Amino acid sequence: MAEHTKVNLLDLDRQELEVFFTGMGEKPFRASQMLKWIYQFAVDDFDAMTNISKSLRARLEREAEIRVPEIVSEQQSADGTIKWLLRIDSGNSIETVFIPETDRGTLCVSSQVGCALECSFCSTAQQGFNRNLSTAEIIGQLWVANKALQCMPRNDRVISNVVLMGMGEPLLNFNNVVRAMNIMTDDHAYGLSKRRVTVSTSGVVPAIDRLKQATDVSLAVSLHAPVDALREQLVPLNRKYPIKELLQACKRYVEGEHKRKITFEYVMLAGVNDSLQQARQLGRLLQGIPCKINLIPFNPFPSSSYRCSSAQSIDRFRQILMQAGLITVTRKTRGDDIDAACGQLAGKVEDRSKRRLRQQTKEVNFSG
Ligand code: SAH
Repeated sequence: MAEHTKVNLLDLDRQELEVFFTGMGEKPFRASQMLKWIYQFAVDDFDAMTNISKSLRARLEREAEIRVPEIVSEQQSADGTIKWLLRIDSGNSIETVFIPETDRGTLCVSSQVGCALECSFCSTAQQGFNRNLSTAEIIGQLWVANKALQCMPRNDRVISNVVLMGMGEPLLNFNNVVRAMNIMTDDHAYGLSKRRVTVSTSGVVPAIDRLKQATDVSLAVSLHAPVDALREQLVPLNRKYPIKELLQACKRYVEGEHKRKITFEYVMLAGVNDSLQQARQLGRLLQGIPCKINLIPFNPFPSSSYRCSSAQSIDRFRQILMQAGLITVTRKTRGDDIDAACGQLAGKVEDRSKRRLRQQTKEVNFSG
């Protein structure tokens, strides 16, 4: 069989691996054996799989592969945050970030090469968009990070949480993201608790309903403004799915689910969305929705014209929300010295959206 037609086993979740193995005339339990080798023992070589017969290993060698993204570079922040640039094909690279905390280790994973949405305060948006990541490229980020952490001199750091908050809009790559999350939470693979896997969305309403049918991971929603007019400027997707519809979908997501809460993300932009009046509006808007609010200090990037709200205004904003009875925390900025903080992930994207071209033309028009 030609090299390029090999099945990458990282593209298959347990059910699909079972189909793959039974199709070869093997027993379904081979699927969980394979998951353990790949994910728990971090093995990418069939020859090392000693409980699999020599003849089956030889056949797997011919028909399948375990192909993970290649590390281009690794950077460590003063605060321990680690960022990897991963090459996924000849023209494109993505970024993945590990954030160590005392009680957990969070991996921030990308779901697309660039992003098709054009949120005005996000650096990934400036990169344009190339394509969706495959399941293998999403789960491959965990594989690579996990292996790299194991090989470090201080190897006590493990991935206990995953947030799909890297490059891209995960709910616009629905099937691959859900399949990758199935592998993350599979006991034979990484066995992460569903509560410790979080999908963050800028508000793709129909996909929120589909997500509830498909899995029960945690949901974070990038809200950023209490009213439509402002949200449209920050998150243009709001024109398609305005706040009211978005919040109804959020309510449906938590409905009937004991203890489930939505996390609302709110980036703090000085003079844009951080006034006391906006805090009160936000407080009223979110009444009755089981949720917590995450205030994210804006992380600047070259070419951004926004500024981060002062620590004092963030604190006042938070106080008002707390007085309105809403659990509110300010997200600690991590890894900003290596451009690994929220909204700073850029990678290397061969833009196919013509966005950069459009921006350049605009600049020319403005200056000319
Ligand atoms: N597309 C998804 C996943 C990206 S998550 C989403 O929008 O939710 C990245 C989080 O960081 C989002 O809440 C995003 O709005 C926020 N973010 C983007 N740019 C930022 C910046 N420059 N500073 C701080 N937060 C930012």
